[in-house]
Amino acid sequence: MAIRMIVKVPDPVLREVAKEVTKFNANLHKLLDDMADTMYDAEGVGLAAPQIGILKRVIVVDVGDEETGLIEMVNPEIIEADGEQLGPEGCLSIPNLNGDVRRADRVKVKGQDRHGNPFVVEATGFLARAFQHEVDHLNGILFTDIAERVYDISERDKGGE
Ligand code: ZN
Repeated sequence: MAIRMIVKVPDPVLREVAKEVTKFNANLHKLLDDMADTMYDAEGVGLAAPQIGILKRVIVVDVGDEETGLIEMVNPEIIEADGEQLGPEGCLSIPNLNGDVRRADRVKVKGQDRHGNPFVVEATGFLARAFQHEVDHLNGILFTDIAERVYDISERDKGGE
């Protein structure tokens, strides 16, 4: 396990479409382990492989809910999305900015575990937001592309939120 360097904007790798994973081998397991380490080290709630420069469809999510814990998902695909939420979002690849982003409030996400077994996650609220954010990364989309408002983090802090 190791902490990898997080790629920051405007690195072009963040704009690429990541490739589907077909080999569920030791390399993939190491990638998933390193991604979790890197996410926790950076105090993030999710990380997509392109954020460490790897163009594979792999994400990890942990929004700090004990019951859900760490979710590793390979080849994630949002198969259902309902409702709406508007809320603040940030990104480990965009250190100084937050934004208000409109997302579906509930999603169903289909993917595979590290061994290739298919599974489905149903998520609402903040977890649903995290999944949508990470799947966007696999398609080269950043929250700043779709935010209704983008603001400097220090600016928001001054506002006393
Ligand atoms: Zn991000």
